[in-house]
Amino acid sequence: LMQLAIPLNFIGFVYREIRQGLTDIEHMFDLLDVPPEIVDKPDAKPLVMDNGSIRFDDVHFRYDENRPILKGISFEVPYGKTVAVVGPSGAGKSTISRLLFRFYDIQEGAITVNGQNLRDITQKSLRAAVGMVPQDTVLFNDTIAYNIRYGRMDATDEEVMEAAELAQIADFIRSLPDGLNTMVGERGLKLSGGEKQRVAIARTILKAPPILILDEATSALDSATESEIQSALDYVSKGRTTLVIAHRLSTVIGADEIIVLKDGVIAERGTHNSLLDENGLYKAMWDRQREAQETEERLKDFQEHD
Ligand code: ADP
Ligand code: MG
Repeated sequence: LMQLAIPLNFIGFVYREIRQGLTDIEHMFDLLDVPPEIVDKPDAKPLVMDNGSIRFDDVHFRYDENRPILKGISFEVPYGKTVAVVGPSGAGKSTISRLLFRFYDIQEGAITVNGQNLRDITQKSLRAAVGMVPQDTVLFNDTIAYNIRYGRMDATDEEVMEAAELAQIADFIRSLPDGLNTMVGERGLKLSGGEKQRVAIARTILKAPPILILDEATSALDSATESEIQSALDYVSKGRTTLVIAHRLSTVIGADEIIVLKDGVIAERGTHNSLLDENGLYKAMWDRQREAQETEERLKDFQEHD
């Protein structure tokens, strides 16, 4: 048995190395925004932004032939407004954000930004206009300054620190031995999920895009840190056309419209209050999350008084 254990261990090691390598490549695509399949039309025009609204019109999408993911989704995010997408995991929420970046083309329907179909504009101009705080932020193996400055390469150190301040990561940076010049990422200082997310938020603040996608941007954080970050996110999204994908419903109460996605269709839509009145899926999700939070708080009280 011992004889077997060693090679198996070794195989596990090799496997993890390979897997890590693959993940790095995937992340590189994420970071560099290079979708290999999508090609600009020969006569593609740069996106013209003025009122910056987003529209999904009867959007149908599937990754694989036999498995539709979005089955006729229509909604609008008017200029400067915030629309939230909520729903069970696997519903297709992140897919919506990927489509807005045009990482994939849809099979039916239309996605337009400021009245221009994504198929007719250059990907470069689209991605310059859209900022995303993703579910899992991956950092470059470079300095923390570079990782924030990636949002806008010509930003000064002062501007980088200003963005860091707003993202509530400035104190952390000042506490590092090399400050802004500290190496981070897989081969540098490893940051926690919350710290990485704050770097991504700082990057987005610096980029100041007219369109913003927040994909469960506070999911890696505990609830205390989350509420701090939430104020940073509120700051970034102010006046920007914002699509929020949310896990915790407490973060979308103020959205102009909330869309409840289930099995690839919009099951319910409305404001927080109108959805509670509807007493359907959203209300059930809301009650479940509140119960879970109350249990968590009671448990914490119990531990503190023990
Ligand atoms: P959500 O963000 O709501 O949890 P996603 O949009 O990430 O859901 O995924 C929706 C569905 O699409 C899931 O069933 C997921 O497994 C599937 N999916 C996501 N990405 C891919 C992909 N690249 N190829 C095939 N299927 C995918
Ligand atoms: Mg998701």
